[in-house]
Amino acid sequence: MTEKQISSDLLVIGAGVAGITAAVEAVETGLNVILLEKRPYIGGKVAQFSKYFPKLCPPGCGLEINIRRLRSNPMVKLYTQAEVIAVSKEGGRYKADVSLKPRYVNNRCTACGDCVKVCPETRKNDFNYGMDETASVYIPYENAYPQKYVIDAGSCKGSSCNKCVDACKYGAIDLAEKEEVIAIEAGSIIWATGWEPYDANKLDVLGFGQFPDVITNVMMERLAAADGPTHGQVLRPSTKQKIGSVAFVQCAGSRDETHLEYCSSVCCLASLKQSRYIREQYPDAEIHIHYIDVRANGLLEDFYGNVRRDDKVHFHRGKVARVTRDPSSDKLIVEAEDSLSGTIMHKAVDLVVLATGMKPTVRELPLDASAVDGNGFLISDGTGIIGCGVNTKPKDVASVVQEATGAVLKAIQSIKGN
Ligand SMILES: Cc1cc2nc3c(=O)[nH]c(=O)nc-3n(C[C@H](O)[C@H](O)[C@H](O)COP(=O)(O)OP(=O)(O)OC[C@H]3O[C@@H](n4cnc5c(N)ncnc54)[C@H](O)[C@@H]3O)c2cc1C
Repeated sequence: MTEKQISSDLLVIGAGVAGITAAVEAVETGLNVILLEKRPYIGGKVAQFSKYFPKLCPPGCGLEINIRRLRSNPMVKLYTQAEVIAVSKEGGRYKADVSLKPRYVNNRCTACGDCVKVCPETRKNDFNYGMDETASVYIPYENAYPQKYVIDAGSCKGSSCNKCVDACKYGAIDLAEKEEVIAIEAGSIIWATGWEPYDANKLDVLGFGQFPDVITNVMMERLAAADGPTHGQVLRPSTKQKIGSVAFVQCAGSRDETHLEYCSSVCCLASLKQSRYIREQYPDAEIHIHYIDVRANGLLEDFYGNVRRDDKVHFHRGKVARVTRDPSSDKLIVEAEDSLSGTIMHKAVDLVVLATGMKPTVRELPLDASAVDGNGFLISDGTGIIGCGVNTKPKDVASVVQEATGAVLKAIQSIKGN
């Protein structure tokens, strides 16, 4: 491993909507910025959505313009497959040791795809939450930035195969590439490392992992996406057949002291949005939303009102006790209380969507334990830790953008104070 030293005004860690916003806002004030992303592409979870609430526009709408701002400014330097392994502070400046994982594909890549045609190995497609596979050499998604291929070291057979190297007429593939460690020195750091979906395997009574037709809300985004595993058609995973009924289980593991104690604030809206995906594709489909209370704050109340007026969308107030499968009909049975009618219902449906919450990724970071609250969110305490996005609190994209813009002001104050 080599250790290269780079210096910058601001280091932004995580290139989801929070980190990208912080980087472009900062660079346009004249700061030099380094942006780090651990995945091979930027955009975070938003890149994986089918559409955004409340306007239901594709995620490309917001991401594209910011990626263009990023690309056009030479004062921002992006590293993908980059993770901070240690951080220290000396004389008012931060030093971060960053591990850069090999991509095995360099900037000569034109994304022509000749390598994929000859690659004999496969990997589970994490962009689609494992619902399909790609070749070992892959482009994360059609409009991914950087627009170049990457090789999955876990499944690639390396130089013993070498087919992609031979097929690449641009000499863009180097299977001998090694991990590198670089040291970045900066006047301030913005942490924008976002969230991961809560692990639905922990919700044993709700059938995830047991029945293929029980999926999570993030998987639903990919099923509905035109570039998803079913090319945008929401089908039953078990049979690949059309859907006549869906149940959404709200607060799946949220507001529950044995899982996530807090409300992730966007899951109600995500399910309302996803019920629109289903209704657009299946005008006769019946949708059941099992909720504790519907949280659609401010202007988003209108969005809720529109879905509520749809007579094919049924709201049931009460917790879901369990999800089972009826072998005779091959349907899933959702057992839930309906606290408004005081009854226990058993509803047979084709698909169950678990509205799982957002879990901050902060605990894995090289940060002092005091920088993290009891639920794992980052505490921006004014003493140098500047966080933004879902790693400080669950929130929607509009709120993330506001917080990221504010974080840049804090960073500028911190740099000027140095
Ligand atoms: C099912 C669902 C649907 C949703 N739909 C909507 C919607 O329609 N509209 C809306 O406004 N909001 C929606 N949201 C909320 C939205 O997803 C979040 O507001 C948004 O993703 C927050 O962006 P972020 O940048 O904070 O986090 P992320 O999107 O998680 O981005 C964080 C980035 O940091 C990277 N990273 C993590 N750790 C490291 C590390 N150690 N080093 C370097 N990089 C790292 C990650 O790879 C990622 O790219 C939805 C949420 C869910 C669960």
